[in-house]
Amino acid sequence: MVQSSILGFPRMGRLRDLKKANEAYWGGKLSRDDLLAEGKRLRLEHWKIQKDAGVDIIPSNDFAYYDHVLDHIQMFNAIPERYSKHKLEPIDEYFAMGRGHQKDGIDVPSLEMVKWFDSNYHYVKPTLQDNQTFTLSSDPKPVREFKEAKEAGITSRPVILGPVSFLALGKADRGQKVEPITLLEKLLPVYEQLLQELKKAGADTVQIDEPVLVFDLPSKIREAFKPAYQKLSALGDKAPRIVVATYFGDIVHNLDIVDAAFKDVYALHVDLVRNPEQLDEVIQHLGPKQTLSCGVVDGRNIWKTNFKKAIEVVESAVQKLGKDRVIVASSSSLLHTPHTLDSEKKLPEEVKDWFSFATQKASEVAVIAKAVTEGPASVREQLEANSKSMQSRASSKRTNDPEVKKRQEQVTKEMHDRQSEFPTRYSEQKKHLKLPMFPTTTIGSFPQTQEIRVQRNKFTKGDITAEEYEKFIEKEIQDVIKVQDELNLDVYVHGEPERNDMVQYFGERLQGYEFTTHAWVQSYGSRCVRPPIIVGDISRPAPMTVKESKYAASISKKPMKGMLTGPITCLRWSFPRDDVHQSVQAQQLALALRDEVVDLEAAGIYVIQVDEPALREGLPLRSGKEREDYLSWAVDSFKLSTAGVKDSTQIHSHFCYSEFQDFFHAIAALDADVLSIENSKSDAKLLKVFIDEAYPRHIGPGVYDIHSPRVPSEQEIKDRLDEMLQYLKPDQLWVNPDCGLKTRQWKETKEALTNMVNAALAFREKY
Ligand code: GLN
Ligand code: ZN
Repeated sequence: MVQSSILGFPRMGRLRDLKKANEAYWGGKLSRDDLLAEGKRLRLEHWKIQKDAGVDIIPSNDFAYYDHVLDHIQMFNAIPERYSKHKLEPIDEYFAMGRGHQKDGIDVPSLEMVKWFDSNYHYVKPTLQDNQTFTLSSDPKPVREFKEAKEAGITSRPVILGPVSFLALGKADRGQKVEPITLLEKLLPVYEQLLQELKKAGADTVQIDEPVLVFDLPSKIREAFKPAYQKLSALGDKAPRIVVATYFGDIVHNLDIVDAAFKDVYALHVDLVRNPEQLDEVIQHLGPKQTLSCGVVDGRNIWKTNFKKAIEVVESAVQKLGKDRVIVASSSSLLHTPHTLDSEKKLPEEVKDWFSFATQKASEVAVIAKAVTEGPASVREQLEANSKSMQSRASSKRTNDPEVKKRQEQVTKEMHDRQSEFPTRYSEQKKHLKLPMFPTTTIGSFPQTQEIRVQRNKFTKGDITAEEYEKFIEKEIQDVIKVQDELNLDVYVHGEPERNDMVQYFGERLQGYEFTTHAWVQSYGSRCVRPPIIVGDISRPAPMTVKESKYAASISKKPMKGMLTGPITCLRWSFPRDDVHQSVQAQQLALALRDEVVDLEAAGIYVIQVDEPALREGLPLRSGKEREDYLSWAVDSFKLSTAGVKDSTQIHSHFCYSEFQDFFHAIAALDADVLSIENSKSDAKLLKVFIDEAYPRHIGPGVYDIHSPRVPSEQEIKDRLDEMLQYLKPDQLWVNPDCGLKTRQWKETKEALTNMVNAALAFREKY
């Protein structure tokens, strides 16, 4: 029979219970025992949900209090000495690595945390020493949790991160030179021991995730798979059968690794949502007895699975392999999906019927497996309901807006280009804006005070009227203008006090978006985000930001910068549609933003910033055609949104990073008059690419870090500017912080900006 399987379940619980428990524990309001008990309760609940849904293969060890990679760091005793030396309780040592520890005379920052592939989840980086050793912790977590599930009557499939991915995703600690993959031989015995302990505990199968297989890998990492998996396979009956899991991309370019390394493993899992076309090739590389786990239920999105299509994919695998060698699975862990649709009480029924969150997806894998095993008649009702729901979505007025489609057909190539090249634009802008050398500005937001949040809540709850709220926002704008007057900045912003979130704010003002009340997904540690959902064709019924910007401009004596979130960031930080290509959605967003840009200009706003911090994270994981295609439509959407203005209007864009090396041509192609970028935590050398590529336009590399309350001195900022001037021409350089100031307090904000303006004034004298 075809079995059903889930690769991992979200950890937070129905009401973000884990977040609440963790934060209560960190705040000293929950005991350690109670936290651990809450973890256990959540694990049991999640197993039960999957069991009740009829899932055959249920994961264990997918749960983590903070992060699953961090679990492995601790389990392998790869704990840097700065944490281990304090002999904290294991759970406290674990949180110390995840989020830092500043208590009882101990002061140690967290380990580095970075994005998990192209998702919005962040993992803690294994941070390794030159003389690194590994040992298996006593009572290792996967064994413990396997037993826990067994006691509850569930024979689970433990999930562990594979040895090659664990090392490939790691880095050498500060001051260390070790190349992580060279530690493989030292690490493997620990995996051997773990697998044997799992077998002894009764596990017959284990899921070993090797997601790095979707990357283009350097040869040392490619070559590591063979010895690693030969060794683990050689354990034979002493270890559980191994399923090697990959996700978030195809592995066609690494099939030689499959041939060399995975001959003796029991099964391979591939993501057939992202890359259905890899199916046939992967099958050709399977051994005569190997099983294929087909990831056909999307672990990254909230849409109902199209049963008909998914069943076709699985059937085609079954034809070649037979029913016993095929598993129906989620494409990846469901970590990236919200817990359950049942919590949503406010969604329109029509729309709700199109969605499927983790709990619903568990049922989906079971239904698909049953349909293939026993024939469609065995699940006729579910199939019919699903096909009805697919039809409803495809034909709904909410998804299809003929006006939007018509407008997209009328988009021309010319609409992507500004009227003139940069030199002409710049001379117009100079006349018009009269900016000094080294112009100073900020990135948009000013401190979002408690008071702002209180008023916004009151307004959302209906405790104050729209007028009262508007008055309050105007007052906030007046205040930030006054501060900017005092600071003597050159280009002002209105401060964004009206914005809850840089994507949600726009989503709420656009047609085509829906919002949930409980659809949280873990971003990192206890932090969760609730992305808006793009359900249909997007359009802008009315101006979104003009009122605030116009008001701000009317009371300021310097140019006011309008502030928008760009099309790619709106797309990437939402759940996108899965029924039309993302480039189509980006173009719709771009057209809506284009209207906004033009309206801002008409309202007297002559500097307009379109933020695109998510541009880089959207980059496909591998270089090559897919990446180039993405960059081409991403760049087009930015240009389409900004090119409707006159030469004299200055277009800015902003990015929260300065690593552009991999895709500099795309950054240059945006043709933004001014780019503000993060730079204070990065090496100024990263700016070298701008001279190397003869980048002609203007750049504001952040002169100080806004993530910390620390106030940079004037001298420090001057030193920073001097460094930047090794790579940029004086008349190219803007002076600004790294990013928006919304998370800062007023006191340090004013002090830091005072020093920043003084540094700019000194440079104006000097040049
Ligand atoms: N304009 C936004 C702000 O200042 C930019 C935020 C971001 O880049 N993440 O808050
Ligand atoms: Zn930023």
